[in-house]
Amino acid sequence: MTDAAQILKTTADSGLGHLSVQHVHKVYDPHGVHVEALQDCSLEIPSGDFIAVVGPSGCGKSTLLNILAGFDNLTGGRVLLDDEPLATVDHAPRPGPDRVVVFQNGALFPWKTVLQNVVYGLLVQKRMPESEANDLGMELLAKTGGLDRIANSFPGQLSSGMQRRVEILRALINNPRILLLDEPFRAMDTVSKTTMHRHLLDIYDQYHKTVFFITHDLDEAIFLADTVVVMTTRPGTIKLRLDVDLPRPRTRETITSHRFLELKQQAVSAVHEEAKKAFERGERELA
Ligand code: ADP
Ligand code: MG
Repeated sequence: MTDAAQILKTTADSGLGHLSVQHVHKVYDPHGVHVEALQDCSLEIPSGDFIAVVGPSGCGKSTLLNILAGFDNLTGGRVLLDDEPLATVDHAPRPGPDRVVVFQNGALFPWKTVLQNVVYGLLVQKRMPESEANDLGMELLAKTGGLDRIANSFPGQLSSGMQRRVEILRALINNPRILLLDEPFRAMDTVSKTTMHRHLLDIYDQYHKTVFFITHDLDEAIFLADTVVVMTTRPGTIKLRLDVDLPRPRTRETITSHRFLELKQQAVSAVHEEAKKAFERGERELA
C-alpha cells in the first residue's frame, strides 16, 4: 500500500490541474427568457494555484463552476484542462472524479459512516479493493487533523464544520486535478470559519491541488488564495485579477499585515463598484 500523501501528491508533481477558461459565454434558455450569465469570461489558472472568485450575487460564479464541474454546458468559448478540451460548444463536459465539487450544503450520506463516505467514490469507480480503499481513507483521515478518531461516526453526529471537513477529504481521496468549492463555509459563524480555513490551508499546503473557490467574503478570499478574481455584475466577466503575494503558510499575522489590508482595499473597491451596479439594476446585493 502506497502512502496516502504519495498517491495524492502525484497530480501536483506531474503539473496537472492547469485550467484555461477562454472567452466563455453562457446564456440560459436562449430561445426563451434568455439570461446572459457569462460573457467573454477568460481566466488562466496554473496548476496548483488556489484561486478565489468573488463578485455580486447572481453574477455567474456558480455558472462558471458548474461548467467546470460538467454540470452545465457553455454557449460560447471553451475550457481546456491540461491543454485538452474540457468544455466546448459542441462538447458538454461530464462530471468526473478529476473535478470534484464541495457545496455549501453538505452532501454526505447520512446512513454511512465517515470512513464509508470518504471511500465511497473509490469503491463506486472500482479503483481499488475495499480493504485498500479503507486503508487509504484511514490514512487520509489521520493525516488531516486526526480525523481517524471519527471514522466510525455518522454525519448526523458531527458538527457542520466537521461534516464539511469530511466532504473535502471525500473529494480529495479521488486525487482530483481540481477541487471546486462553491461557498463551502457560507453559513458558518466567524469562529467555525477560521477553523475551516486552517484545515483547508493544511490540506492545500500538503497536497497542492488546483483549487477553484467561490466566496463572497473578501477576507476569506485574500486569506486563502494565491489569486483573487473579482467578477463583474451579470453578464459575468473578469473585472480584476489580484495577485495575493502574501507568504505561506498563512497565519493570524497575515490578516493584520499591511499588505493584507492593501490587497483588501483594492478588492473592496472593485467589488463595491460592481455591487453598486447590481444594486442599481435592482438585484440583491450580497457581495
Ligand atoms: P452566482 O453564483 O454568482 O450568484 P449564478 O451563476 O448562480 O450566480 O447565476 C447567474 C445568473 O444566471 C443569475 O441571474 C441566475 O438567476 C441565472 N441562472 C442561474 N441558473 C439558471 C438557470 N438554470 N436558468 C436560468 N437562469 C439561471
Ligand atoms: Mg452561486
